[in-house]
Amino acid sequence: MTKVKVAMDWLAGCAGCEMSTLDMDERLIQLLDKIELTSTPITDLKHPPKDGVTVGILSGAVNNTTNVEVAKEMRERCKLLVALGDCAVFGGVMTMRNFFDMNEALKRAYVETESTVDGVIPSSEELCKPIKAVPLGEIVKVDIHLPGCPPSADAIYHVLSELLEGRIPVLTGNNLKYD
Ligand code: SF4
Repeated sequence: MTKVKVAMDWLAGCAGCEMSTLDMDERLIQLLDKIELTSTPITDLKHPPKDGVTVGILSGAVNNTTNVEVAKEMRERCKLLVALGDCAVFGGVMTMRNFFDMNEALKRAYVETESTVDGVIPSSEELCKPIKAVPLGEIVKVDIHLPGCPPSADAIYHVLSELLEGRIPVLTGNNLKYD
């Protein structure tokens, strides 16, 4: 049986959505009978394959120039794009930074945190540039929104199972929540 190709990646988030994905536990084994996981942020293969995948899954908000590149590459290479979690769906906690001046936010992160000694704000042409934090849908077209912080393992399983059946998932009841 030909497996359905699925690629995952993360943008600006906390990895909680990926932890919830792993919480599918033994159901992950069932899914992997039908899915070829081509790339993930926690494996050596980070980029979706150039010949494309059926399903792309992105968690996290978009808040720097690398996030924009990752989002656009995934969009170009997948047929259906899933926004996984509140950050990807509507910006989530990442957008709290938008209430502050960017330099103030960088100073707080790299210089002023209680555990930082002699901190400096990193500066290099090789580094990405921070931008206003926005939901994934403001950068690329999203086909399926799966909110929650994080979405439950049941909700993630429901979405993947429906997609494997060739259906666009509908979220109801406990599978649909905003945190
Ligand atoms: Fe983390 Fe919640 Fe954002 Fe997922 S939605 S990346 S769990 S903060």
